[in-house]
Amino acid sequence: MNTALAHRRRVVTVVITTLIIALVALILTVQQSLSTATAASSSPDSVLVATDAAAADGVIGDSRVTVFDDVPAVTGLDGALREALQRAARAAASDGVELRINSGWRSPAYQQQLLDEAVAKYGSAEEAARWVATADTSEHVTGAAADIGPWRAADWLKHRGADFGLCQVYLNEPWHFELRADAVTDGCPPMYADPTERRR
Ligand SMILES: [Zn+2]
Repeated sequence: MNTALAHRRRVVTVVITTLIIALVALILTVQQSLSTATAASSSPDSVLVATDAAAADGVIGDSRVTVFDDVPAVTGLDGALREALQRAARAAASDGVELRINSGWRSPAYQQQLLDEAVAKYGSAEEAARWVATADTSEHVTGAAADIGPWRAADWLKHRGADFGLCQVYLNEPWHFELRADAVTDGCPPMYADPTERRR
């Protein structure tokens, strides 16, 4: 065997070995970053802390909250509204429909946060006002309104709510209900096109 051939074989061996080491290092790095990400997102403590702080402001993190649950978004509702919603929820359940609360009472700070997000989303304060009220005007802040979900439940309440004094108030918000005690005998009053019409 001549030395040139032996040298070439050594070079090839070194190159291949280097490539394998680099590949193994890359795989280990990716694996480590993946397991770090998993550990962070599944840490129960960090999740609980964030949820507790937000929940005190009326944030609902769980889409299965009902009007029977003991969370600030529900317990902060006006007592008569809450009671009407509970009676309606029992009637809905007997029709096979689960009535859930997507949003109920909100702290002024949470309402302001929603308004800020709406201004960013819709591009102007005027357009945002059609969808989200200010902390001073929102019926959610006073505990006088609840947003109902899922769609099937909101639809059920749209048709049956008057029996319990619960009415849809805004044409553009088929999920938003408030207490109108007279609706039990008189039916629900005409709706506003959107929140800005009510405040004019
Ligand atoms: Zn609402």
